[in-house]
Amino acid sequence: TYTYEASRKAFERALQVIPSGVYGHLGPVNGCFIPQSAFPLFSARAEGTRFWDVDGNEYIDYMCGYGPNVLGYGDPDVKAAADRQALLEDVVSLPSSVMVDFAELLVDTVASADWAFFAKNGGDATTLAVMTARAATLRKKIVFIKGYYHGSAAWTQKLDYPGVLEEDVVHNLYVPFNDLAALEKVLAENEGAVAGLIAQPYMHGNFADNVLPAQGYWQAVRALCDKYGIVLIVDDVRAGFRLDLAGSDHFYGFRADLICFCKALANGYNVSALCGRDSLKDVVGSLSYTGSYWMSAVPFAAGIATITKLREIDAPALFSRLGTELTTGLATAASDHGFSLVASGEPALFYLRLADDDSLMLHQEWVAECVRRGVFISSHHNHFINAALTSDDIAHTLEVAHEAFGVVRERHPEAGLR
Ligand code: PMP
Repeated sequence: TYTYEASRKAFERALQVIPSGVYGHLGPVNGCFIPQSAFPLFSARAEGTRFWDVDGNEYIDYMCGYGPNVLGYGDPDVKAAADRQALLEDVVSLPSSVMVDFAELLVDTVASADWAFFAKNGGDATTLAVMTARAATLRKKIVFIKGYYHGSAAWTQKLDYPGVLEEDVVHNLYVPFNDLAALEKVLAENEGAVAGLIAQPYMHGNFADNVLPAQGYWQAVRALCDKYGIVLIVDDVRAGFRLDLAGSDHFYGFRADLICFCKALANGYNVSALCGRDSLKDVVGSLSYTGSYWMSAVPFAAGIATITKLREIDAPALFSRLGTELTTGLATAASDHGFSLVASGEPALFYLRLADDDSLMLHQEWVAECVRRGVFISSHHNHFINAALTSDDIAHTLEVAHEAFGVVRERHPEAGLR
């Protein structure tokens, strides 16, 4: 099984010159989604559905860069489009008209998009969405769904987190997912004060099974937002273009006022977008909001190639089929060794947990044994399917999963048996 000497050495160097070595969700400190004992810390090369770490270990990657790898690392069509644009220009004193081409494509593709505004990260789009809701309604409060993630801006954080002021979060209201009574109560109590509700299309939080919307939930949320004059913001940064190219609101049968995209938008090239309905277009245009690289042309060209190809191959249907094939196979592998593996969320973004393991340690052990054998999965985060994944890759993954379950069973002869 794999060892990680070069990774560990690079991480020692990183700790000297980079806060926490690798910050954020890709690092071992804040991310903690990969078991520490099997955490390769630095990658050297990526292609298709695989990457190779700095020790030369090869992985089938089910994290996909935490989302951006949607067609396969280095997809030749996206790369060709980006390279063509790079020969012309990228960041210049005026935007390239490929920005307009990309906006037109999104308006044509996404059901709730009458316009598109581009930025770089998911958090740029969610922050713009919240500012837009406040500017449009002249109200202050924002409703969040507990267990959310909308980026790392101060307004998304918790009061007891370092560097966050009371003023940053004082207008935040929190309700549980799938709980219409709680939402209605909060809206009634704060009537005339709530600007917007921001939510992921389903609960794909960490350290917990993912939860799909209850039948009729979104339609009722939409109706409540209309009743109270609230801007309904869908944060599709993670799920966007994996469930439905027309948007995850379209997938669940409702229409958002604003929808945030990032990860799958350009197959790893750096661009995010806020899209929305016509009635909010002038408000967005009136805001003071931009960034040094937000109009760079290469990611727009990459985005056009990405969305075009996702449409051509009907990627969401493919992701659903591959995700189902994989999670069904993994559950069988688990039960062959007397374990029960729970897969939750949508198949394109599946989340895994070993049942009868409240400490999650057994699950971590199994994940570590998979990672050490070249299957890069996470212990406490949802996974991602990409279009370069094949049934052969899945078959190999299942062999590795089997072996890993066998190792864990040998170590814990009694665990999880019913
Ligand atoms: N919203 C969701 C649902 C996300 O998954 C993420 C990123 N993990 C963000 C917002 C923030 O995006 P970014 O890290 O690109 O700012």
